[in-house]
Amino acid sequence: MTAPISSERNPVRINAAVRSPMSFRMLAWLYFALLLVPWALSYIEGLEVRGWYEELVTLLSILGLSMMIFQFFLTARVDAVASQAGVDNTMRLHTRMGEYLGYLVLLHPFLIVAPRFFIAPSFALSDTWELFTQPETSTGMYAWCLMLVWVLMAVFKDKTGLSYESWRYTHSAGFVAIIILATHHAITIGRHGRYNAWYDVLWIVLCAIAVALVVYVYFVRPRLVARQPFRVLECSKGSDADWYLTITKDGEFPFDFDAGQFTWISSSKSVFARNEHPFSIATTRRALPNISYVIRELGDYTRQLGKLQPGQRVWVDGPHGVFTLNARNATGVVLIAGGAGIGPIMGILRELADRKDKRPVRLVYGNRDIGQMLFLNEIAAIEADLNFDALLVLERPPEEFAGARGYIDAAVLSRFTEEPDALNRDYYICGPPIMVKAVEQTLLTLGVPQERILYEQLGF
Ligand SMILES: Cc1cc2nc3c(=O)[nH]c(=O)nc-3n(C[C@H](O)[C@H](O)[C@H](O)COP(=O)(O)OP(=O)(O)OC[C@H]3O[C@@H](n4cnc5c(N)ncnc54)[C@H](O)[C@@H]3O)c2cc1C
Repeated sequence: MTAPISSERNPVRINAAVRSPMSFRMLAWLYFALLLVPWALSYIEGLEVRGWYEELVTLLSILGLSMMIFQFFLTARVDAVASQAGVDNTMRLHTRMGEYLGYLVLLHPFLIVAPRFFIAPSFALSDTWELFTQPETSTGMYAWCLMLVWVLMAVFKDKTGLSYESWRYTHSAGFVAIIILATHHAITIGRHGRYNAWYDVLWIVLCAIAVALVVYVYFVRPRLVARQPFRVLECSKGSDADWYLTITKDGEFPFDFDAGQFTWISSSKSVFARNEHPFSIATTRRALPNISYVIRELGDYTRQLGKLQPGQRVWVDGPHGVFTLNARNATGVVLIAGGAGIGPIMGILRELADRKDKRPVRLVYGNRDIGQMLFLNEIAAIEADLNFDALLVLERPPEEFAGARGYIDAAVLSRFTEEPDALNRDYYICGPPIMVKAVEQTLLTLGVPQERILYEQLGF
């Protein structure tokens, strides 16, 4: 039932597995601090300080452009940054900030004309029309209209009918156009074109870096990925809904990871196709040169996994992510998995078993029905090796079922949060985004401190 494990070890580390990552909160603070830098620099220009409203609009406009540019930085997968911040954290921040950015940019022209509705209401509508149509603001307007469409496409990406890959290409290409237009708008009309040349150069350089990062992701990164080819060892059904995929290194190159991390996998012939999907590793480094995944059928790619043939080439970008046991000081570990979330949770559980960890380890594992439960024998066997307790939760349990019925809710979780010292333990949640959010919220209401909760959502 379990994914194959080989005992071969590879002692060399590249792609530095994350050792001391930034928390999501630290990343968010750093991000906000960096966002404010261009705005703070604008005051070095020595331009007169106007009324509070004009200054506020200037702040929001500069923030909007900085955020637009920084969105590219958050998705770039540059190893030096990713190993500190974690690609899962940066992607999460990218998604959240995207929403605020949408509001900020869409409000931008209205914030500029709003005072006219109070000062000269009879001219306000014609002034607004002029603002939208005058040649000087045309690049800004094109950026604004494109932004409106692209933000809606991001919010409703599952309803656009586009495959995720097509959506992703369109998203990147559209935002490259938006950032170029927006930068042109900022340097020609920003604060009425009165900024000094060096400030304009700053925006041009930032815009150029953002575009270069897209070039890196699509054209340079694949060359790095091509240096670590893998091939399929086995792809078999684990349950009606899940596949076990095991791949193996195809050559002598250093590769290492920490339990709980994920990789992007592409089975396209060309490494440049970027038809890649993120999946979390279910094994530990003890299994190298093999790595295994639990993959739930969800859409066009995961439903066709059965077509993968042993020996077939797969490209692996990673490892990535900070959903690991590293740099934590907890007195125990509570693992909470929903559906395919059992993949990385098993990776972490296996790591704890490999280490013969003495701390209390608890597992809550939920699924719809018993046929979807994976690794049950291995979980039972681990019970003998660790200070371990597991609770299975099923929405539709069979008659004779010893676990909990329903969802992973407060009643289920309180069984573990009421144990002595439970609030000093780390809570690792992995599953579909909706389940992860619900469990996190429940843990918080049960008194678990936010900094004790780590999660990986199976979707950005
Ligand atoms: C960090 C991370 C780890 C994951 N680990 C696992 C795992 O171990 N097991 C598992 O079954 N699933 C995992 N997922 C989810 C998995 O990536 C998607 O289910 C899969 O990509 C769906 O592809 P599809 O073409 O079959 O479905 P689609 O119908 O194309 O996509 C369904 C949804 O999956 C997401 N998705 C699709 N393609 C991508 C992509 N290339 N990049 C990011 N998101 C995408 C989108 O939200 C999309 O709406 C993980 C996701 C993330 C972000």
